[in-house]
Amino acid sequence: MQIKKLRLSGFKSFVEPAELHIEPGLTGVVGPNGCGKSNLLEAIRWVMGENSPKSMRSGGMEDVIFAGTATRPARDFAEVVLHAEDDRGEQLDVTRRIERGAGSAYRLNGRDVRAKDVALTFADAATGAHSPALVSQGKIAQVIAAKPTERRQMLEEAAGIAGLHVRRRDAEQK
Ligand code: ATP
Ligand code: MG
Repeated sequence: MQIKKLRLSGFKSFVEPAELHIEPGLTGVVGPNGCGKSNLLEAIRWVMGENSPKSMRSGGMEDVIFAGTATRPARDFAEVVLHAEDDRGEQLDVTRRIERGAGSAYRLNGRDVRAKDVALTFADAATGAHSPALVSQGKIAQVIAAKPTERRQMLEEAAGIAGLHVRRRDAEQK
């Protein structure tokens, strides 16, 4: 699966609507400290269903919404749209939106879906919020310094086994 386009609005420091086109191959994000490089990677994880406060560097779910500055009022929602193409050329549009006091809502190709449906879609494509294709700041140093049990978890993620756990949990609940 290849991410083609990302649209952000009110997400963390991306207060004004911003659209990014991602070209094939390896993508690096460069810019001065605090310009929003890590926020961009977090937006990709977030739209894929990530909720862990640690991955999102946030205390609560609503912390991803633009919190305002001395000169700009806070926003009351955050939205990220990811446009991707899978290996068979099928187009995929995923939207996640969070409103203050109203929680998150997801859309998959224009249909309202559950968070679980989004997670399964990415797990089936062997990608997702924990994909080894998304390399965040400090991750390489973390792999080197990791304890064996932690490293095992990273290797499971890299091998794509972590994605299978999502489907197994889902099957076990039925
Ligand atoms: P570095 O090079 O230091 O890693 P970076 O480019 O990765 O920097 P980020 O960590 O992505 O920068 O962005 C940090 C900025 O995002 C900070 O200025 C922070 O105030 C801002 N920010 C984070 N969350 C919010 C929010 N909810 N509302 C407004 N601004 C936010
Ligand atoms: Mg950073």
